[in-house]
Amino acid sequence: MAEKIVQLADSITVGELATTLNLPVTTLIGELFKNGIAATINQRIDFETATIIVEELGLDVELEKKAAVNHSEHHLHAPSANAVARPPIVAVMGHVDHGKTSLLDTILGTKTVAGEAGGITQHISAYQTIRNGRPITLLDTPGHEAFAALRQHGAALTDVVIIVVAADDGVKPQTVEAIRFARSANAKIVVAINKIDKEAANPQMVKAQLASEHNLNPEEWGGDTVMVEVSAKTGQNVDKLLDMVLLVADLEELKADIDVPAEGLVIEAHMETGRGPVVSLLVEQGLLKPTSFLVAGSSYGKVRTMQDYSGKPLKEAGPSTPVTVTGFKDLPQFGDNFTVVKNEREARAAANEARLEEERNAATTNVTSADLLKMMKQQHESHDFNVIVKADVQGSLTSVVDSLHLIETDGEVTLHVVGSGVGNISENDIRLAAGGDTIIYGFNVELPQAVKRMASREKIEVRLFRVIYELLDDARHSMEEMLAPKVVESEVGTLTVKGVFRTTKEQIIAGGEVTSGKITNGLLVRVKHGDEQIAEAEVSNLQRNRQEAKEVFEGDMCGLSLKIDHKFVLSEGDKLEFFTRETVKRTLA
Ligand code: GDP
Repeated sequence: MAEKIVQLADSITVGELATTLNLPVTTLIGELFKNGIAATINQRIDFETATIIVEELGLDVELEKKAAVNHSEHHLHAPSANAVARPPIVAVMGHVDHGKTSLLDTILGTKTVAGEAGGITQHISAYQTIRNGRPITLLDTPGHEAFAALRQHGAALTDVVIIVVAADDGVKPQTVEAIRFARSANAKIVVAINKIDKEAANPQMVKAQLASEHNLNPEEWGGDTVMVEVSAKTGQNVDKLLDMVLLVADLEELKADIDVPAEGLVIEAHMETGRGPVVSLLVEQGLLKPTSFLVAGSSYGKVRTMQDYSGKPLKEAGPSTPVTVTGFKDLPQFGDNFTVVKNEREARAAANEARLEEERNAATTNVTSADLLKMMKQQHESHDFNVIVKADVQGSLTSVVDSLHLIETDGEVTLHVVGSGVGNISENDIRLAAGGDTIIYGFNVELPQAVKRMASREKIEVRLFRVIYELLDDARHSMEEMLAPKVVESEVGTLTVKGVFRTTKEQIIAGGEVTSGKITNGLLVRVKHGDEQIAEAEVSNLQRNRQEAKEVFEGDMCGLSLKIDHKFVLSEGDKLEFFTRETVKRTLA
């Protein structure tokens, strides 16, 4: 535990950091310089860089990031006394193939399963269904990337998580991930045990797994987790599931204000020919109307058309309503918070302010941890994996980038997203990649012929994917290739020396008793005198009963020749430990 905790903003000048840490500024500059960065007192370094420097200096200080005012960050508003009840926002999650999409289809009375590319779509989608006259908002996170995106930007939105578990398959890794998400998002959990129409269905087994391994105890066993046995295929109990969702949500007394300017989250954004930016929003408070002026990050506009999830025009959208709007002047970022302002002037001013702040941040953070790590790599032998990511829509792009960053590398290989954007691979991307060792990943985008030619001329690798898992697997494999191989030593046996017959510069001939395991020709040997290792050697010949032997076992007396690289004294009573050593390719978690 560090003695002192110091709070720092996202970036700080070298001079300020020195003052904060009570250090001569020259010490800091010197340390940065040692790491290959020539910084001045007024140069800004980012939080991660500061952390690394503090660590390198061995200071007993823990740095904590000060909560920054971040426009795209989600902030919840405590409802006032005037707040009204709002529909619950429900995320449907679960392991692949457990029936998430089928369940949504049954609830919504649609058919989406068939349309997915390889069963995986890449966006968060939001829908609404009505049960007993009450709306329920459903968020679908069909792939891992949408899941990661929701975790990053939408956790605070989610009131209830329906965790779909197939009754014939039980709890699987993504089930566990969903449980973890629900808990970290502080959402209520309702378990849908699906596929109970199947012969192999074993709902009791699922309940037992959830209870014993994940502390989710079904109500019928005296616990407090609602579990409903359903069949998305036959529709059995799906109504009951929705009833239970409403019941669980009712206990939360979900409310939001409507007499305040509308506000919410951008959950998807893409360009459409003829319509311009088409943006999906989830309203969290207030009433959004056609003609409202909107700001989301550095984008703004006036709502031109507003539709509900099914494409029906809407005159008004209150809390928990997902809508699709047109009218933004450019593409907002997925995950941005949106707000309604009075008029165009205010909207433009707010968007400008956000843009200036973005630029300021970009311009003032002169030294990033990426730079620093890059410089340190030459000393610490770490490697960089540089990528440029292009995707079809903003939502996918954010998801791909977020998911790439989630690949754990033990710090030995560092992934840098040196560029990213929406749209096909362009000549500009090739130019950017040509500067360094950079790979271009395309997700659901094209590589035009002319650009392809340019890429091959510049020897830039462009890898295109339509399924996110494959892209992530590829990135993981590429990074694994960069890991230094691991040396694995396995113990195979031990021997106690009973006599030494001959010692030369290159070989020792001795005899002894195998005290454990099995010894074979060619094994490596650690020679130990007491606890001290005095040499390493290799078995070059093995004899039992004065006959050459392939192997000798525990309890056997044997003679052996050891190949050595320097002369040393082997004595009676010394221990020989036999082992193999191999290098294995390392894999990433
Ligand atoms: P997702 O990957 O979780 O979205 O799963 P899908 O909805 O795509 O379903 C995976 C497979 O399970 C499909 O072949 C579905 O037809 C099937 N399936 C889903 N729900 C049920 C169910 O309740 N009963 C049966 N028998 N099959 C189901």
